[in-house]
Amino acid sequence: MEGRKYFDPEIETMNRSDLEKLQLERLQWQLKRCYEESPFYRERFKSAGIKPEDIRSLGEIVRIPPVTKQELREEQLAHPPFGRYAVAPREDWAELHPSTGTTGVPVNTIWSHRDVKTIASWTARTMWSFGVRPGDIVQNAFSYGLWVAGMSVHYATQELRCFVLPIGAAMTERQIDYLLNPGSTVLICTPSYALHIAERLAQRGVSPEDIPVRRGCFGGEGGTEVPATRKKIEEGLRIDAFDYYGLAEIGPTIASECEEKAGLTWAEDHILIEVVDPNTKERCQPGETGVLVMTHLTKEATPMVRYWSNDLATVTTEKCACGRTHARSLGGILGRADDMIIYKGAKFYPIQVEKVVRGFGELSDEFRVELTTDERRGMDICTVVVEQLAEKGDAETLMSHLKKGLREELLVTPEVDIKPVGSLERTTFKAKRIVDKRKK
Ligand SMILES: [Zn+2]
Repeated sequence: MEGRKYFDPEIETMNRSDLEKLQLERLQWQLKRCYEESPFYRERFKSAGIKPEDIRSLGEIVRIPPVTKQELREEQLAHPPFGRYAVAPREDWAELHPSTGTTGVPVNTIWSHRDVKTIASWTARTMWSFGVRPGDIVQNAFSYGLWVAGMSVHYATQELRCFVLPIGAAMTERQIDYLLNPGSTVLICTPSYALHIAERLAQRGVSPEDIPVRRGCFGGEGGTEVPATRKKIEEGLRIDAFDYYGLAEIGPTIASECEEKAGLTWAEDHILIEVVDPNTKERCQPGETGVLVMTHLTKEATPMVRYWSNDLATVTTEKCACGRTHARSLGGILGRADDMIIYKGAKFYPIQVEKVVRGFGELSDEFRVELTTDERRGMDICTVVVEQLAEKGDAETLMSHLKKGLREELLVTPEVDIKPVGSLERTTFKAKRIVDKRKK
């Protein structure tokens, strides 16, 4: 098993036309069962005036209206506790995984017993692609419990015959103890937590040379593919760092980078991926940035048909240098459609601020984008708040270089507030980058 390049060679290197044929077969199976078994979907199809058999090609899926998280939430409130979008019968249900619920009521999604196996297998495939092998000691610092990602990585380590430390997002000191002894070889967590562990490691006087960890995969939020962030994680922990992506409604760990570090590779035999313009709702041209819309091809319990993820990315179907043929999102997730900041007529996302901030050695890894109102002039003010590392450089020069860097990336100059290191709160989970204090 160790010497194999791919986890599932036939699927991972399948030529595009065979892959699309497989997708269409699975899509038609999925649409038919959604129509027959779920009143929620049947009503949606009917109001759009379509039947499953009307979808005869992958492109025709655009005729089905996308489903948003808000619609799932309303459905769940109208038909508690699970809504009517569960397609598999109750006796097949295995696990409940609601969305994290940072905004509003959590949306329930369910894994059937077969879904658990499918998810374990696609996650094992992603982990294999970034170099996890049997015998690796995997420190799984994704949260366990209801949050999906901890469980999927856990199941995948069994599939891969690894030794797993199911630590979850526990205390940072404990994470470091386990990195030292037994000496994990793989670390999995959010990128902001990886940076925090690296920061604590340095403060504790542990050299990254003294820990055997050699690779890590970081998801739950974007950032791993921001070059300066990746470099900080890789140098701070002396590892190769790879990007990871998933979401509760679709499933965890559905896309990861391979050893080429050439963007998130989608498990296209399990999901159909589209990129849609957030304003016009039309399909984007190849290479254009838009919202990821995803359809489950194999999910049994709560399949999503054209789920509007609100995550922005581009997708290419160009074959990867590793030989895999599945679509990739270069640069990973570029932001949330509703995280777009409009300031003085320019549009930008927190990930662009991150790109600039992380390029400055004088600054810590933390930053915030604060939005406030200048009541006297009745305008919004956008301030980028950063932390200066105590011993480094003169604040005035730093301020002017930072403003210049931000202007080049964002095409507008925000205010800048440089605070002493430690002023901004650290997180073990997903970092909250935008603080909106505007008077509405
Ligand atoms: Zn690749």
